[in-house]
Amino acid sequence: MIFHVLTIFPEFFEGPFAHGVVSRARDAGVLDIRVHNLRDWTSDRHKTVDDRPFGGGEGMVLKPEPLFLAVESIWPQRTVAQKVLLLSAQGRLFDQAMANGLSHEGELLLICGRYEGVDERVATHLADDEISIGNYVLSGGELAAAVVIDTVARLLPGVLGNETSAAFDSFQDSGHTEGLLDCPHWTRPADFRGWKAPEVLLSGNHEEIRRFRGQAAREKTARLRPDLLPG
Ligand code: SAM
Repeated sequence: MIFHVLTIFPEFFEGPFAHGVVSRARDAGVLDIRVHNLRDWTSDRHKTVDDRPFGGGEGMVLKPEPLFLAVESIWPQRTVAQKVLLLSAQGRLFDQAMANGLSHEGELLLICGRYEGVDERVATHLADDEISIGNYVLSGGELAAAVVIDTVARLLPGVLGNETSAAFDSFQDSGHTEGLLDCPHWTRPADFRGWKAPEVLLSGNHEEIRRFRGQAAREKTARLRPDLLPG
């Protein structure tokens, strides 16, 4: 899959994708992340991307022209498999189900807002969807874009070492967690400062381990995320 990011801070993305599974998948050619500088689609001397909001008020707003020009030049013959996502605190809430859906798209282009936000015509006439990573306000869409790309990337075939392991993650209702939290995990030492790992996990009895993990996942979900339990 190809991810495009449109931002006024391209250098921001040098960090988030330089490590771990996403970086390895990128090196292996399983996915490509192309970061574009929005200022490349301005024509004035100052490379202006923002302007004052109509109606007055605080702050600046990202202008529509550079954003439309950027998408039209990145995808001159845009197809239905090429989706534009606008990161926005006002968007639909991003979750694992949305990530699963996006992982089947061909190409994604993520627009990172800044300042007071983005001219509304980008949401209504350029973006396929407007998405939020949570009910809080970030200072820019870059962190949100990194979250979306990382979450979608690990669902792509060949990104995780074991192809089925994403199905064991929290929130995956297609996999063994059935939409609940993943089970808790322990590793060596079996006794750490007197806190012991559950005996059953050391027993080698796979059926009992499976039952224990299911029960532990349900208990943890009930304690921390009761909203995930079936009604
Ligand atoms: N005035 C806007 C509002 O109250 O909805 C907030 C603008 S915010 C300071 C600047 C940019 O950060 C937004 O255009 C968006 O791209 C990004 N952003 C902020 N919060 C976000 C969130 N929860 N999810 C996704 N993007 C977010």
